[in-house]
Amino acid sequence: MRLTRYFLPVLKETPAEAQIVSHRLMLRAGMIRQQAAGIYSWLPLGYKVLRRIEQIVHEEQMRTGHIPMLMPTIQPADLWRESGRYDAYGPEMLRIRDRHDRDMLFGPTNEEMITDIFRTHVNSYKDLPLTLYHIQWKFRDEVRPRFGVMRGREFLMKDGYNFDLTKEDALHAYNRHLVSYLRTYERMGLQAIPMRADSGPIGGDDTHEFLVLADTGESEVFYDSAVTDIRLGERQIDYDSVDQCRAVMEEFTALYARTDETHDQQAFDKIPEDRRRSARGIEVGQIFYFGTKYSDPMGATVQGPNGKPVPVHMGSHGIGVSRLLGAIIEASHDDNGIIWPEGVTPFHCGIVNLKQGDAEADTACEQIYAALVAKGLEPLYDDRDERAGGKFATMDLIGLPWRITVGPRGLKNGVVELTSRRTGESEELAPELAVNRIAEIYQAP
Ligand code: ATP
Ligand code: MG
Repeated sequence: MRLTRYFLPVLKETPAEAQIVSHRLMLRAGMIRQQAAGIYSWLPLGYKVLRRIEQIVHEEQMRTGHIPMLMPTIQPADLWRESGRYDAYGPEMLRIRDRHDRDMLFGPTNEEMITDIFRTHVNSYKDLPLTLYHIQWKFRDEVRPRFGVMRGREFLMKDGYNFDLTKEDALHAYNRHLVSYLRTYERMGLQAIPMRADSGPIGGDDTHEFLVLADTGESEVFYDSAVTDIRLGERQIDYDSVDQCRAVMEEFTALYARTDETHDQQAFDKIPEDRRRSARGIEVGQIFYFGTKYSDPMGATVQGPNGKPVPVHMGSHGIGVSRLLGAIIEASHDDNGIIWPEGVTPFHCGIVNLKQGDAEADTACEQIYAALVAKGLEPLYDDRDERAGGKFATMDLIGLPWRITVGPRGLKNGVVELTSRRTGESEELAPELAVNRIAEIYQAP
């Protein structure tokens, strides 16, 4: 993409309404525009990152054997009357009436709808286990929408639902989700710590939230600092293996890590004092096992091995896809702007032409651009007729991990400059080598 042909409405001023750094930077970098409290347009740069994050979530869900689908945003109220949640959910639910006076709602989550689909189409235990998921916009009429996409009213969520014959099978689904979520967040350059949590209006017994530690997080958390040393890394996990998934789950949840709702001071005091931490975190996902809470009242049964109908055991599992943009920026930025992890960056690298209009510099930039595209990469070429300082400031603000700087002086010596956004370190090398280096960085799995 050439910047002169792109739509990147960066702001010079820091918007007054933004209280936290991720919100400020998303506005300044021209990623989002608020249309009403907690409701945003995703401008091209923001939309690109949202898509990258969504893609990672899809890939990891499918790797885990979960099946993608899409349910509507608008739901009939009757389904929620069956589960008893229509009244229980309260003012967070946006209730709508259609022209025929039918009660509808903008879905805050989809347990009822998926249970309806299941009971209509699945009859036998032989069709289990089954995990269906979708990535769809949700609406929750939050009392205090704030912090930009972190607490929106309209937000994008991946929500998945497992259906199993037995509690043991459903607990395997729970553990499997835990492992695949860890992998998902790590691919985004994030450490999200599973913490024992409270189930809230979803209900159920077992639940963990995934928290990214950040001073601006809305959740108060307590943990043993040793949990921050555990990573999934390059480990290969067989998602069908009950033992392997359980082992990872146990490893990641053995140490004390809880949100304030489940905090137990006595247990916390048993942690060696120098490892006790109380901090703040951003909830980027949550997993639940809730047994037959929905399948019972909604009649989601299958014919069991003995021919008798049994209610299925269920769980639901959510990732805050749009909130993740804020969480990633909170975890990865500096005074000059965003620093995208390579896994989610909107463009793989920036090209800055120090002297637009100089025949040699222009040609070199075009060649680098074409070479990167030929390698399947997406560069952003700043081809504006602007001062170098302004170009660098824009690149730093929008946070592309790598920048290739091209100027007449370097070209005389046959070199361009390759700069890491994260470290600020630069290296001079031949244009072809810079291109190869970038290609190698993104080839790593
Ligand atoms: P919170 O406690 O932050 O209100 P929740 O526990 O009610 O969230 P879940 O039902 O667990 O939310 O939804 C799954 C995920 O969706 C959350 O982990 C979070 O990342 C994201 N999410 C929930 N509410 C919002 C919101 N208002 N704006 C953006 N993302 C949200
Ligand atoms: Mg939650």
